[in-house]
Amino acid sequence: MPNILSQLSLIFYKMIRKVSEIFKEKEHTYSFELFPPKTEKGYEKLLHTLTELCEFNPDFISCTYGAGGGSRDKTFDIVQLIQEKHNIPGVAHLTCICHTKEEIKNILENIKNRNICNVLALRGDPPQDNPDWVPGDNNFRYSSELCASIHKDFSDYFGIGVAGFPEGHILCPDLEQDARYLKIKIDNGADYVMTQLFFDNQLYFDYVERLRKIGVTARVIPGILPITNYKNLVKFCQLCGASISDEVKTIFEPIQDDLERTLEEGIQFSIRQCKGLLDGGAPGLHFYSLNKISPVDVILQNVRR
Ligand SMILES: Cc1cc2nc3c(=O)[nH]c(=O)nc-3n(C[C@H](O)[C@H](O)[C@H](O)COP(=O)(O)OP(=O)(O)OC[C@H]3O[C@@H](n4cnc5c(N)ncnc54)[C@H](O)[C@@H]3O)c2cc1C
Repeated sequence: MPNILSQLSLIFYKMIRKVSEIFKEKEHTYSFELFPPKTEKGYEKLLHTLTELCEFNPDFISCTYGAGGGSRDKTFDIVQLIQEKHNIPGVAHLTCICHTKEEIKNILENIKNRNICNVLALRGDPPQDNPDWVPGDNNFRYSSELCASIHKDFSDYFGIGVAGFPEGHILCPDLEQDARYLKIKIDNGADYVMTQLFFDNQLYFDYVERLRKIGVTARVIPGILPITNYKNLVKFCQLCGASISDEVKTIFEPIQDDLERTLEEGIQFSIRQCKGLLDGGAPGLHFYSLNKISPVDVILQNVRR
């Protein structure tokens, strides 16, 4: 009986742990990002993928919010499922764009009631059907304001992650200014930074150095996107402002119509990138899994320490 009780308490403990608490125990964390599928069939498929991903015993799994037009409540359903079915801490992304301050507070209450205690606090981007949306007095303008509000209304209940951009946010090419904006998020209560994808590790190391110079000591977890389709990658990078390094162009442009070779080269590239990051001191890896087990399974098996 005491055994069962201690197992139950371990499960409960694991469920409600904040990412920042996991950092205290682990030098490196390995995690995945999912997105809520738009269709029932996609959701069924995700449930299967999730089981496979959880076999890798990730430190946490995050789920995007609103991006790509998916249903917003689905984010929290998925994070709750990750925690309750798989006993893995879940991180709910939350964007404040197009929400009033009161709505955000209600959403956070809802998340809390679901026993979710990790959020990635984001501003988000104006939706396609409302591209000219501008914040008023009753909205948060920046993620830093969302961080401050989470902290004010919920004290230390939530562990807060924020987005970071090694090449600067697409609307803020001034790298020093971008770093100062990031620091405001940390000063307003964020615990760690999750980066935008990048392909040149030096961009990440320079970014971390910029942040350290201005006093940001929080962990900066690199976001890794394995390359599986070069044409799609080019389109995506144009949208999010990430650059495609010369090395990536040289490897993948000539084979862009051969998806099998792209996958093989993509795996080898990611393995090299991840090893280089860990060798250089990165505190873990966050994989943009795109709701698929392949190729993150192979990559993780080769790089995990
Ligand atoms: C790891 C990661 C996960 C993401 N997940 C999602 C998701 O789930 N859903 C989704 O819709 N999008 C997601 N995004 C995309 C993100 O919402 C967009 O990149 C968005 O444009 C910026 O969000 P942010 O939280 O960094 O915004 P902010 O930090 O608010 O920055 C937005 C812009 O305002 C500028 N800025 C910040 N503070 C100030 C200030 N005080 N004064 C003037 N300017 C300022 C910044 O330089 C930047 O240009 C994610 C991005 C990353 C890197």
